[in-house]
Amino acid sequence: MPTPIAHWIDGAEHAPVGHRTAPVTDPATGEVSGHVDLADAGLVDAAVASATKAAEAWRRTSLSRRMQVLFAFRQLLDERRDELAAIITAEHGKVHDDALGEVARGLEVVEFACSAPHLLKGGYSEGVSANVDVHEIRQPLGVVAVISPFNFPAMVPLWFAPIAIACGNAVVLKPSEKDPSASLWMARLWHEAGLPDGVLNVVNGDKEAVDAILEHDHIRAVSFVGSTPVARYVYERGTAHGKRVQALGGAKNHMVVLPDADLDLAADAAVNAGFGSAGERCMAISALVAVEPIGDDLVERIAERIGRLRVGDGRRACDMGPLITAEHRDRVAGHVAAGVDAGAEPVVDGRDLGDIDGEPDGFWLRPTLFDHVTPEMSVYTEEIFGPVLVVLRAESYDEALHLVNANPYGNGTAIFTNDGGAARRYQEEVEVGMVGVNVPIPVPVAYYSFGGWKNSLFGDTHAYGTDGVRFYTRGKVVTTRWLDPSHAGLHLGFPQHD
Ligand code: NAD
Repeated sequence: MPTPIAHWIDGAEHAPVGHRTAPVTDPATGEVSGHVDLADAGLVDAAVASATKAAEAWRRTSLSRRMQVLFAFRQLLDERRDELAAIITAEHGKVHDDALGEVARGLEVVEFACSAPHLLKGGYSEGVSANVDVHEIRQPLGVVAVISPFNFPAMVPLWFAPIAIACGNAVVLKPSEKDPSASLWMARLWHEAGLPDGVLNVVNGDKEAVDAILEHDHIRAVSFVGSTPVARYVYERGTAHGKRVQALGGAKNHMVVLPDADLDLAADAAVNAGFGSAGERCMAISALVAVEPIGDDLVERIAERIGRLRVGDGRRACDMGPLITAEHRDRVAGHVAAGVDAGAEPVVDGRDLGDIDGEPDGFWLRPTLFDHVTPEMSVYTEEIFGPVLVVLRAESYDEALHLVNANPYGNGTAIFTNDGGAARRYQEEVEVGMVGVNVPIPVPVAYYSFGGWKNSLFGDTHAYGTDGVRFYTRGKVVTTRWLDPSHAGLHLGFPQHD
């Protein structure tokens, strides 16, 4: 029997509104495992009311008490990471090991947030004028919202909520309606860690809930992660309603392989980064640019490795799991068909399912490798978000760089080479926010910040790291005169001398 999935408001399970629901499926079996209740504006309002009340007390809670909660949450998450990974696999489909990796990367941000007392320290200037000192403090915003995508149901909420909470804010989290259970599980864990009621609320829903968040007067900031069209919409609508918004969008990440690269390393990296999590990663490598003459050799090595991958149920120690929904699987298969029609060479066609280690009704597709792709083909222009890797050939480094920079997305990129000078040129010249040198998925560690350029991010600050702290706080500068505040009499001009 599918389980009802509802909300977490004011430190407790909240009953379904009963307004609308959406099915949640186990992608490896195709079975509907739950029905998630979709919030209306009234429920968003209830969550914001709880958060508004909680934010007032939470910002006044001492930093040391706040940190005790953060450390307790970190401890619980560390101990129970396997449980969370199992929930991710059951609703997203990624293999268990990869789900554990997702939790580990989220945990890193919790650990970073545990250093909030250090990060929130302001500057102090003594004696800027006679007996006048100036200091800066950073204060929380109040209620902030997080809207997350399906592909990292634990990690993306963890990119934001721990830092927002550590900085003294209250959070309304709206997870993807496709895999909502990880967020609810984490909300219960925060509760267990001692987080006061209302500091974290989980509202499940779809566009209706998102619109209510974007228009709500008491929400001060929105962190969004999802596809580019929705990211742009959230940014425009949220800022039009006076909110601070950071909206991370889609990607088409290029991996450039220069002729001097270690081709085995490059082939391993292309397969890991292209097909891990069935390509449903915003930092997946989806376009490989082979700088000649190594194209044929590299494609052969990649195809050989694809042949060794085990596709199946993520609970069965396979390499790659299913796609998130049947509709998405069909959409990706449609992109593969369009690639074939456009004349790309399907070296491996993932629509040939062959041996799958899973139930027949799972949302399966095997990896696809296209060679001789050209920039106008839809397999190149579209963000497919599935296990499809396209190979383009370039005659020179400059041609490869031009291709990457002409792409409207700029999330992540990688260069594979043994030439330090070429790598240095690439990191300087490429118009992409996160760059890997012989590293295919350069997701920054938690004490740096995560963010793409161009259509991959709308807003001024990146996620987590010190950008996260800035995003969730407002600066206030205090100018103070003590000791001998001598009365200088009336003077209506700006002071010119001290
Ligand atoms: P999505 O844009 O469909 O959904 C993201 C969130 O927006 C969900 O919570 C969803 O409920 C909500 N939403 C969906 N349609 C909406 C609409 N019309 N109006 C308002 N809200 C709406 O994205 P997804 O399919 O869940 O996730 C995959 C996408 O996310 C890919 O494009 C991927 O590249 C991107 N992504 C980007 C990053 C990054 O850091 N840049 C990270 C992960 C995923």
